[in-house]
Amino acid sequence: MRRAAALVLLASAGCTVVPQGMLKKSASPAPQEPWTPPESGRMPPAEPAPPPQVPEEYMRPGTTLTLGQLVDVALLNNPVTRESWHTARAAAAEVGSRRATYFPFVEADGVLERQKSSAVGGQFTFLQTTYGPAVAASWLLFDFGAREADVQEATRDLYAADWAHNAAIQNVVLNVAFEELTIAVDTHVFRVSNRTRLAPGKDPLEVEMKLLKVTPKKYLKNAHHYLILHGRYTCIAQKPLCWKCPILEQCEFPERKKFAKLAPEPVKKVLPKAR
Ligand code: SF4
Repeated sequence: MRRAAALVLLASAGCTVVPQGMLKKSASPAPQEPWTPPESGRMPPAEPAPPPQVPEEYMRPGTTLTLGQLVDVALLNNPVTRESWHTARAAAAEVGSRRATYFPFVEADGVLERQKSSAVGGQFTFLQTTYGPAVAASWLLFDFGAREADVQEATRDLYAADWAHNAAIQNVVLNVAFEELTIAVDTHVFRVSNRTRLAPGKDPLEVEMKLLKVTPKKYLKNAHHYLILHGRYTCIAQKPLCWKCPILEQCEFPERKKFAKLAPEPVKKVLPKAR
């Protein structure tokens, strides 16, 4: 009886007491100390940007490049076309993922059970082992059109991404061939332009036209990159980091003051007491 009680106590202690070593690794050891992530939780070091992909024969001294070759190099290396291409591929993958819901769902399982039982007051004991695989399949046949709507939504997003990629290619070609300054509107540029009311529009073309109107000529060449970087690192989609935004005063986003209050608390350093 005593042994059983001791076992119950040990088991309950094991459930409630978390090893100190694990606690130290999982959270900061004191309120005034920042958390130091373990090796596996650290950010990988930033990789240097890959060198531009230029065919070797184009680099030979004395080589004169044709306009077509220049356009090729620009299309391959320009961050605008690379980003729009990746966005279009991600949208294509999303369509595939949503279509997968039309296929049956198959689940495989394994069971292993060992059971000891006795009869006639313990005179006979039986040991029984059962094991075996289990496979279950389910197939949703009717869902009132929910899956079809999901697939349609992803397909329309894919079309939009493909058109945006085509527009990015055209803008890069124009930039290279005619030095025509354009501003390709991708998802970041579209969001920032609408949020700030810098160039509001219901589609990328309308935003592009307005941006071309309001951007001073000397900034036209780099405006696209400024807007992309601002959208990617500060005016992000879910919770814009208005508290550190350099254009907070100029921005016309109605909720900017709400988001500006979300600045993280500065970490207070507690100095050790002088002895
Ligand atoms: S203030 Fe906020 S919403 Fe406006 S541009 Fe800056 S991050 Fe975006």
